[in-house]
Amino acid sequence: MPNLPIIRLRPKEGRRARNGAPWIFSNEIEMTPKTKALTPGSLVSVVGADAREFGSGYFNPRSLIGVRLLERTPGAPVDAAFLAKRLRRALALRQRLYDKPFYRLVHAEGDDLPGLTIDRYGETLVLQVTTAGMERLTEPLLAALDDVVSPAQIVLKNDASARALEGLDDEVRTVRGDVSRITVEENGVRYFADLAGGQKSGWYYDQRDNRAFMASIAKGKSVLDAYCYVGGFALAAAKAGAKEVTGIDSSAPALTLAEESAAANKLSAKSRFVKADVFEELDRLWTAKETFDVVIADPPPFVRAKKDLEPGAKAYRKLARLSAAVTAPGGFLFLASCSHNISLERFQEECAAGILRSGRNASLIRTAGAGPDHPVHPALPETAYLKALVYALD
Ligand code: SAH
Repeated sequence: MPNLPIIRLRPKEGRRARNGAPWIFSNEIEMTPKTKALTPGSLVSVVGADAREFGSGYFNPRSLIGVRLLERTPGAPVDAAFLAKRLRRALALRQRLYDKPFYRLVHAEGDDLPGLTIDRYGETLVLQVTTAGMERLTEPLLAALDDVVSPAQIVLKNDASARALEGLDDEVRTVRGDVSRITVEENGVRYFADLAGGQKSGWYYDQRDNRAFMASIAKGKSVLDAYCYVGGFALAAAKAGAKEVTGIDSSAPALTLAEESAAANKLSAKSRFVKADVFEELDRLWTAKETFDVVIADPPPFVRAKKDLEPGAKAYRKLARLSAAVTAPGGFLFLASCSHNISLERFQEECAAGILRSGRNASLIRTAGAGPDHPVHPALPETAYLKALVYALD
């Protein structure tokens, strides 16, 4: 690409980028006054101290990850055509995986589009931009999406906390069409979620395969879905033949959507949704000696930032203890963490400690992550965030 500003690496730096990682950390970069003065999100060309070219990417002088590489071929333009090529590749992968257009279409670095996630609900796309570099590419990106997907409706849901670190403000707006409610088809169930109003989280595609697995072991069983949101696990289990399902969440709008979805799938008769704090409700169920054959706990991230590791780990341990206590003898317990900032090893350790503390014996029967529409960049294993463990309890 002609005349891109040049970012020079310090001597011997760039090892991970040379091995395929699309990240260059700020401490690997020669920070000259000219470099520091670049507008956050500028496209740059990266050159090693040995004059070797790494390709182009975008730079943010305020971010710990200074450059995210986009294009390895030096001089190749980063424009709408480039973005369309990446989108086509992402789309082709999903089309190889799924029959219907309901999936995460773009998963940031995993699809070589750092700073961008796109969830697809049929003709509706929900975009999340988390970096200054991708923000500056929004216009060519929208053009490329028209070219590749031509969606009827587009929502920009730019409210992730990561934006603040990049110096970006929040912005949630509909770019095209009129979107408030979305319908999701997954594992043979129709779900509803809201994109407008207070509860505007959309849908969590990452648990699709885990919902299917839990549903497969729930036939004829009683199921408790803690942190049920709009009924993801509970209704998949009900549809697969669970005897009865109970969902708990603190959000009234989410529970209303869960009830509507239960009705739309003719599952209302065996579905029950309760508005409560999960810790308090588990405590109450335990005191009342109520148990469930299958217990699912898929909470919001307890470790939001690195500094929250210890209190977050303690919360996971407590959740494991309380949920094991309401799992019937011979039952199954599913525990998940979507926190980037806790390792699988540590999460597993806390879950085991909590289950043991509740006085139960357990075997770990499944360890899983996010579904295949959430690909992980092969050179960035640390970006795999979802951890889902299934235990069989004595
Ligand atoms: N399991 C869901 C996703 C859960 S997202 C699915 O499969 O789609 C986390 C949910 O936890 C949100 O719906 C949020 O409203 C709820 N939540 C957060 N804190 C809570 C608490 N203390 N008690 C109950 N629910 C809570």
